[in-house]
Order: sequence, then C-alpha cells, then structure tokens
Amino acid sequence: MKILVINSGSSSLKFQLFAGADLTVSALGIIEEIGAAKSPVRLDTFDAAGGKQTFTQTDSIPDHRQAIMAMARLLRASGVLTDLHDLSGIGHRVVHGGEYFHKPVPIDKSVLAAIEKLILLAPLHNPANLTGIRVAMEHAPKTPQVAVFDTAFHQTIPEYAYLYALPHDLYRERHIRRYGFHGTSHGYVCGQAAEFLGKAASDLNIISLHLGNGASAAAVQGGKCVETSMGMTPLEGLIMGTRSGDIDPAILFYLARETKMDIQEMDDLLNKKSGLKGICDENDMRTITRRADQGDKQADLALTMFCYRLKKYIGSYMAVLGGADCIVFTGGIGENSSVVRERSCRGLKQMGIVLDAEKNKGEQQGIMEIQASNSPVKILVVPTDEEHAIATETARIVSKIPAAGNHNS
Ligand code: AMP
Repeated sequence: MKILVINSGSSSLKFQLFAGADLTVSALGIIEEIGAAKSPVRLDTFDAAGGKQTFTQTDSIPDHRQAIMAMARLLRASGVLTDLHDLSGIGHRVVHGGEYFHKPVPIDKSVLAAIEKLILLAPLHNPANLTGIRVAMEHAPKTPQVAVFDTAFHQTIPEYAYLYALPHDLYRERHIRRYGFHGTSHGYVCGQAAEFLGKAASDLNIISLHLGNGASAAAVQGGKCVETSMGMTPLEGLIMGTRSGDIDPAILFYLARETKMDIQEMDDLLNKKSGLKGICDENDMRTITRRADQGDKQADLALTMFCYRLKKYIGSYMAVLGGADCIVFTGGIGENSSVVRERSCRGLKQMGIVLDAEKNKGEQQGIMEIQASNSPVKILVVPTDEEHAIATETARIVSKIPAAGNHNS
C-alpha cells in the first residue's frame, strides 16, 4: 500500500508519502511561495532502518500545476516513488465540505462540483485544494483520489448548536451556520485517546483542544461531535496566533463608522493582526512564554488571555456534555506548552479537573497522561497527525474500490 497525502494551501504544497500496511511515513515534502520568483522546495525521505535524507532546492514554480509536477519529479529522483501511478491512492485535505460531506469520499465529478460550490464559504482555501486535486487527477488519472474534509467531523453537531440566532433565511439561502474546522485532528486525537484509555469512543465524553497557530475546541459525546468553537469560518472561538476568536460583532460597525476601515482592512485586522500577535506583537507561544517569564507584562497578558478564554470553553463544554471523562490537549501549543495546560486547567477542581504539576512537565514521546490521582477527569496530551489520519481514511476507502486492488499493495 502506498498512499500520498496532499495538502494544497494558497501558496504552498505539502505532501507526505506513506507505505506499507501500517502506513509508515517514507517521505515528507513542502513547496513554499508558489508563484514567487523562487520557491523553496524540501523533501525528507526515511528508510526502513530509520535513516533520513534531505533534498532541498529553489526553483521557479509559478503555479500548483508546476508544483505537483515538481513533487512527482522529486519523489522519483529521491527513489521513494517511481511514478504517481504506482500509488494505491491519493488523499487530499479539503478545508470546507459544507453540509455536503459528513465523511471522506472518493473524488468524482460531483464531488469536484460540490467543492467548487463551497468556494463561496472558503474563498482562501477551497480554490487551492481544488487545484491540487485537479492537477493530481490529470497526472495520475487511474489512481483513486479521496477528499478528507476539515469540517466533516462536525456535521453531527445538532441544529440548535450550529445555527446562529440570525434571521433563519440567512441559513436557508446563504448557508450561514457553524461548520467548525480541525475536524480531522479532533477525530484523530479522540480516537487515540479512547484507544489509550482502553475504552470504546462511544463510551466517552471528550473535550478536545487543538491549540496551534489556529486553535479550536470540540465537545465530543460518545464519539460524535456536538459542539465546536470555530464557526462559519475559522475565526470564531479561542484566541489564536493572529486571529481574535470571539469578539462583539458590533466592534466592526464602530470601526467602520469611526475609522472608515473597509471590509478588507477589517478582515486583515481580525485574521492577521489580532490574537496573541495583536496583544503582544508576537504569535509564537515559545517566545511569548519566554518573554512572560522574563517579566514582560504584555506577553504575560497575552498568555493569561489565551488561557482564560480556553478555560471558559472548557467550562462551557463541561456543561454541554454534562461532564467529561477526558480532556485532550493537542497541536503545537497543546502538545508542548505545559504552562498553557496548567493555566487553563487551574482552579477547575470543582469540575473534577486536577492536573498533576510534575506529570504535566514530562517530555515523554507519544501520549502523556497528566491528571492527578484525585482527578475524576483524565487529562491527556495526544500528538495529532492529520496527515496520517488522511492516509488511513484514504487507504480504507481505496481498499473498497475494486480497481485499486490492481495498484501497489
Ligand atoms: P501548529 O500550528 O500546530 O504547528 O502549532 C504552532 C504553534 O505551536 C507555534 O506557533 C508555537 O506557538 C507553538 N509551539 C510549538 N512548540 C512549542 C513549545 N515547545 N512550547 C510552546 N509552544 C510551542
């Protein structure tokens, strides 16, 4: 079995090759600044003995078509893949699946048409995802391709939770509702947590916290998502690296009236200049924590605000779920910042959430259990692996397609 996972961003292409029945990573690549005069390209390959080789180059890569071709050339030259046709399947990360997709699907014309329709809801992401799929399909027309949606895991959220209290026509006619994102990650870490705890996902209530540059929380009841913090777009909810998360929407009316700020400026303000960066001029949690440790008041304020917002969501999701069995921290910050984990769980003993300070500072690889012995709620640190989850879903789907049996296994 050889599965390639492609994640096409607006100016980047990330790809990862998985091989064997257990889908081990055999190559990991990224092409950045697509469309710029020079695009940096990097590929790491891994052999069975754990050896690693790195290939880097800078090329002129004007568009995603050229990027996919460069990716295929690089995989060939490195010796990990002879041809895209040798793949058992290609899995594509697609940001917005709207209400059409509740799970990963094999890509056909109708799926392409739906992803195209959803450009309205995800104008920055879906066009790049779509181009990546189209070009990959042109280059490997016989290889089954699968779309895995960031939104799909959240499609079980009930109507009363996904609707905004706006005139209902806006939902019916313009599809304005909460969709949620990071679904592949939330689904993956909840599955990992259940396996670690030796329980069926259907027997657990989990609060999943994906804290990276983008951050979101999900309340997962018996394996099904019932609430999430990101909304119609990935702007709502927690404080993020450069995104504000929840604000009073009337702030925008005020800014428009008082400063004549236009829509693009507001978009930039909330998506690129706010969050941690807006508060302390820095969006990397490592630097913020270091600065706060050194007595920098603004960095400490950013850290405090980030953890306070998180704590509010943990509390409200305890209410949504009627109590949780487990809290899962994941993402670059969730997996690595003991300070954020400690501050966001501090003072929640009444809710059955008690962190063990020593275990929380551990640096063990893999899943880490960090609650105190008197904590009814388990607290886990679970490394996320969205690419592996996409590869697993792709492998599962292509194994059901008869023609796929003819490809490499
Ligand atoms: P992600 O988007 O999941 O890759 O997460 C990226 C973020 O994780 C970075 O912006 C950092 O703020 C944060 N991060 C990574 N490593 C650490 C660390 N050791 N301590 C605190 N934050 C970290």
